[in-house]
Amino acid sequence: MRITIIGTGYVGLVTGVCLAEIGHKVFLHDINQEKIKLLKSKKIPIHENGLLKLFKKHLEAKNLRIESDPNEALQASNIYFICVGTPQLRNGKPNLRYLFDISNKIKDYIDKNKLNNNTFIVLKSTIPPGTTKELQTKIFKKDIYKNVYLGSNPEFLREGNAVYDFMNSERIVIGSESKEFIRTIKKLYSPLSKKSKIFITDPQSSELIKYGSNAFLATKISFINEMSKLSDKVGGNIDDVSQGIGMDKRIGNEFLNAGLGYGGSCFPKDTRGLAYTFSKNKIPSKIIQSVIDINNKQRKYFFNKILKRFSKQELKSKSVLFLGTAFKPNTDDIRESVGIYLINMISPMVKNILIFEPIAKENSINALSKLNNVRFQKTSISKIDYDCDFMIIATEYPEFIKIPHKNLKKLKDRVVFDGRNILNREKLEKNGIEYIGIGK
Ligand code: NAD
Repeated sequence: MRITIIGTGYVGLVTGVCLAEIGHKVFLHDINQEKIKLLKSKKIPIHENGLLKLFKKHLEAKNLRIESDPNEALQASNIYFICVGTPQLRNGKPNLRYLFDISNKIKDYIDKNKLNNNTFIVLKSTIPPGTTKELQTKIFKKDIYKNVYLGSNPEFLREGNAVYDFMNSERIVIGSESKEFIRTIKKLYSPLSKKSKIFITDPQSSELIKYGSNAFLATKISFINEMSKLSDKVGGNIDDVSQGIGMDKRIGNEFLNAGLGYGGSCFPKDTRGLAYTFSKNKIPSKIIQSVIDINNKQRKYFFNKILKRFSKQELKSKSVLFLGTAFKPNTDDIRESVGIYLINMISPMVKNILIFEPIAKENSINALSKLNNVRFQKTSISKIDYDCDFMIIATEYPEFIKIPHKNLKKLKDRVVFDGRNILNREKLEKNGIEYIGIGK
């Protein structure tokens, strides 16, 4: 089948490349001409495991084409995957401007060309419940656009594992009122149906499934983070607590690690979006707001541990070795990264910060360019410079776990603040290194 992807960010690019991998002919379009230029030069604007190799493979096999012109992109197929960003306004309200802009462009294209063949609009962007219906009533009115079919098809990929997740998804959710839409999109995904369950529902439920999934995972994180404070107080070990709770299959271990809380482009935005949707519908929702509040406080709780260990006066002369600025390992995404937040908080209080970030370095350099006491290590993990006073870990890269203790001993104060609870307190203490984690 021929498919046009509109918006080639983390979701659109992965979706497009993976749809080519399962046998479709895919046209990639983005409004950002810099991105188009990069894609045309066989490069990709994001870091994602295995993506570049597949992208090049399908570009060469001509299963993928880059379309800079929106009309040509729309002409290339009659199935449009909308993957534009749905960021947020200040009050938490999802900003659907990009979604409405592209929908109006599609409508104008249909009008101008007097199209009456079947057109399928697949909404992959994360949208508040009711948005598919709104597009149907405000833009693609059923009595006028009889052959335009809309549906929600939320994306569940995790950055860092996005290609694997797309190809091995547990479920593919399709929410539409149109039988024609469901039949066509089901057929499109059929090469994945051995591994992934295709779940059909109405658009509002599909939209709720996406918000609900992210909010539930965020709730697990905030729950264990709240427990970590109690664990600190009573002298427990939150890692054991988490393991013990998660051994119950009904609960499971995933998303149950205490630490600095969640960041990234999805959980913060989608929990706020869900809270906004509750309040817009005048339904009091205590859980989601608490999840958000706990998450915001967790980073301050960690920051206060630093202030408890060192006085403000002491901090003024300290050099900090800071590990990890990506919001999670194996991505170059720093949107709402807790690491970046912490660096901004700590920078005015210390002499300098020396950062090591394996993947998101370039984005982080740009984001922190205004701080004049921050430097990035230009090396690999094995050659990190430890000539600092103490260390902070903010992203749980597996390679950080393996740092030899003899290297940590080079830190002048021999203190490690572990914001992701990835190091072993006992082993460090045996080697004369002070360990400050969260809830253990
Ligand atoms: P992104 O910002 O990386 O990419 C969005 C792209 O859309 C940009 O390249 C932008 O230039 C392009 N765009 C905007 N308006 C356009 C238009 N009119 N025509 C063509 N292109 C246009 O965003 P993302 O992270 O890929 O997220 C996209 C959507 O998917 C969001 O709704 C997000 O919540 C959702 N989502 C994201 C993830 C994730 O892990 N990033 C996972 C699941 C769902």
